[in-house]
Amino acid sequence: MRLGAHVSVAGGLENAIPWALEIEADTFQMFSKNQRQWIAKPLTEEEIRAFKEPLSKTNLGPLMIHDSYLINMGSPDEAKGKRAQVAFLEEYHRCEALGVEYLNFHPGSHTHPKKLMRDDKKTRYDALERIASHMNKTLEETKGYKSKLVIENAAGQGTNVGIKFEEIRHIIDHIDKKERVGVCIDTQHAWASGYDWKNKFNEIWDDFGDTIGMDYLVALHLNDSKSDLGSRVDRHDNIGMGKLGKETFKSFMQEKRLEHLAGYLETPGGPEMWKPEIAVLRKLSEE
Ligand SMILES: [Zn+2]
Ligand SMILES: [Zn+2]
Repeated sequence: MRLGAHVSVAGGLENAIPWALEIEADTFQMFSKNQRQWIAKPLTEEEIRAFKEPLSKTNLGPLMIHDSYLINMGSPDEAKGKRAQVAFLEEYHRCEALGVEYLNFHPGSHTHPKKLMRDDKKTRYDALERIASHMNKTLEETKGYKSKLVIENAAGQGTNVGIKFEEIRHIIDHIDKKERVGVCIDTQHAWASGYDWKNKFNEIWDDFGDTIGMDYLVALHLNDSKSDLGSRVDRHDNIGMGKLGKETFKSFMQEKRLEHLAGYLETPGGPEMWKPEIAVLRKLSEE
């Protein structure tokens, strides 16, 4: 597995590169702009060059951009949905311009105000279909693009959808151009949404293969968990220090079906933690 972390782009996108090298990573994830802002100015040729040139002198990759947390393509409100789609398209333009392989995004939320409706199947599946339709518009407007739109499984907080493999499959079923779609599994989110990595590791990947198909899987977010199995609470912990523990990460690192993937840390603590975490993961793969 190619290992990396979500590194900072403070002061310029190109600053991600020395951070990734500093922690001895094979790859990295980043935001392509301030993630709390809706729209950023389009990237200039200069900014693109400032990123691509130093990158070409490294072996880092495949890279991943994480989209803005503000984007909710599952919204039932038409204006909000449209705004999300426009912002998502803009993220995709940036991703492609930078030559970044993957644009990772959280599917979204159905936002139904009644708590009882949180798990109503129709409410959830309608939101999944809205997400697919926004993705379809995005794919239609970007013919010839190479970067992939990568659906990340959610932990299930609030009215988040895209939790179970069946829900991700439902999005993909409604996509017209499936060859530019991938999936990223966040180990913490999966655990929080009820996937028991500690006792059912193989069965979960069998289920993924049967439900979604292993060919869609392009990356993992490698995070330990502060929250319990099935808690639906999104709280990352450092590798080996949370409820998953080191043994579980050994399973991830030694699983043949995951060998070719990129794995990105989104753990607390910053570069001084990520460097030893990456080293530990590498060791686990060799044990
Ligand atoms: Zn994640
Ligand atoms: Zn998370």
